[in-house]
Amino acid sequence: MDRQVVGILGGGQLGRMLVEAASRMNVRVRVLDPTAQSPAKQISSFAQHIDEPFTSPEAIHALAEGCDVLTVEIEHVNCAELAAVEEAGTAKVRPSAATIRLIQDKCLQKEYLAARGMAVPAYARCDTLEEARAAGAAFGYPFVLKCRLGAYDGRGNYVVKSSGDVEDGFARLGGQMLYAEQFVPFAKELAVMVVRRPGGQVATYPVTETVQRDSICELVYAPAQIDGRVREAAMKVATDAVGCLPDGSAGIFGVEMFLHEDGRTVLVNEIAPRPHNSGHYTIEACCTSQFENHLRAVLDLPLGDTSLKVPAAAMINVIGGADGYSSVLDPCLASLDVPGATVHLYGKADAKPARKMGHITVVADSALQLRRRTDLIAGKLANASD
Ligand code: ATP
Ligand code: MG
Ligand code: MG
Repeated sequence: MDRQVVGILGGGQLGRMLVEAASRMNVRVRVLDPTAQSPAKQISSFAQHIDEPFTSPEAIHALAEGCDVLTVEIEHVNCAELAAVEEAGTAKVRPSAATIRLIQDKCLQKEYLAARGMAVPAYARCDTLEEARAAGAAFGYPFVLKCRLGAYDGRGNYVVKSSGDVEDGFARLGGQMLYAEQFVPFAKELAVMVVRRPGGQVATYPVTETVQRDSICELVYAPAQIDGRVREAAMKVATDAVGCLPDGSAGIFGVEMFLHEDGRTVLVNEIAPRPHNSGHYTIEACCTSQFENHLRAVLDLPLGDTSLKVPAAAMINVIGGADGYSSVLDPCLASLDVPGATVHLYGKADAKPARKMGHITVVADSALQLRRRTDLIAGKLANASD
């Protein structure tokens, strides 16, 4: 399909699903990840994977030497080295180093979006305990203290419930660069995947509803059950947010949003510069998956049809629980009897609590049928009884 070799920084489940899509199109992929048996490397025997951290300048340089395009499946990478690759012209970097750098610092990202007129929750830089107290006084309680860098699955967030909690939050996240955010009383969380080709062609996936438990994505429904006005608003917020990123960056982006409990205001929570958990359902439910479209975008190939090919879909994350692998296998085994269900397991050996081990997509002819089918599986989830 394309002679270019794609280098991916990161070899987790997103990399694995990129490899799946690439192999179908005969696109060769090299993976940079410290783990030799990482999920993405397990399913690709292309000999030139690199077993080094995706923050290592030497390793990024070596990856670029053997690739035409570099991309990421995680934003916590070495952007200075990616910028050096761009400058030297060793390989193309998509999305650009400037975009990844901006997004990986959640506070800079908020400042950037707010400066361009995007609606975001009220936020404030927060370098000292005094500033954290001031944020509590300004925003009221609860508010959220967040690590600026290295965050995922809510690790790095602390909900400050009262003024007596500020010191504890600050101490727990201590030593890291922080910022504070107003707690948004949301009716729903929404997400939209937006994919952009270097020349500017843009395609958007349907608006989804995401459900987080303990800050980890647990369920995604596509399409979101929202009225047309909110759907339009979420689509516009997502395309505007991606549209204002630096230098017309190419690739796929996941835009996480809050629908305020007022039922109309849509705020950007954050953007992911890569395939996103809210887009896993696209493998079974859309004409072209988020993974294939990300590859098409970074290879500068025409983008595929992003529309749903089924009336309703859901994605259930399979997350490690206290009882190890049985908490993973129970919902997967249950799904084998459920029409429209597809299991994805990521090949992670260790089923640690709160670790994303796999997911199950369910497609259906109606929202009601979808609910019946997901209920059969959700009842088997380790944390379903909480
Ligand atoms: P991800 O894995 O999506 O990168 P993250 O670690 O960057 O997660 P956030 O997206 O900031 O974390 O927050 C995780 C979840 O916590 C959100 O999806 C939402 O459920 C809740 N949350 C975060 N910020 C706020 C807020 N300001 N108001 C209300 N809830 C919030
Ligand atoms: Mg995040
Ligand atoms: Mg998030």
